[in-house]
Amino acid sequence: MQDPEKKKHNLTKRGLKVIGIVLLLGGLTCTVLGSVSLFSSIGRKEFPSLFWMLMIGLPMITIGVSMLMFGFRKEIGTYIKNESVPVVNEAAEELTPAVDAVARAVRETQICPNCGAKNDAELRFCEKCGAPLTKACPYCGEEVGADAAFCGHCGKKL
Ligand SMILES: [Zn+2]
Ligand SMILES: [Zn+2]
Repeated sequence: MQDPEKKKHNLTKRGLKVIGIVLLLGGLTCTVLGSVSLFSSIGRKEFPSLFWMLMIGLPMITIGVSMLMFGFRKEIGTYIKNESVPVVNEAAEELTPAVDAVARAVRETQICPNCGAKNDAELRFCEKCGAPLTKACPYCGEEVGADAAFCGHCGKKL
């Protein structure tokens, strides 16, 4: 069901979210450490030794949040476009055999032009009266229904 392209797409999405979360958590940790260092150093009136953590922490949070948003926006977008489709597809796949069977039962019968009996589509002669159910198209030689008005293969009027 999953083609490599979609798998790659999902991996990219997951990667974005993982990196986003890592950046966000790392950025938060750095910001907290940097802030603690900043505030404690204000009281002690010295340059905060961990001030650089605040400097990298805030951009990390910004990048992390935007990556997360991008990752989730993509997910929301694909949820509507792609991820709802497989559900429909899976449901259709389960229904297809039943629909096919019904369609075949309805479609793949042919009425004998001689006696009106229902015959399986692949039969060439009526099971009731033995009349031919098919004939050869005089133009292309392909087999067509005995009462066909036009050839289904070459389109000529019979
Ligand atoms: Zn017949
Ligand atoms: Zn023909």
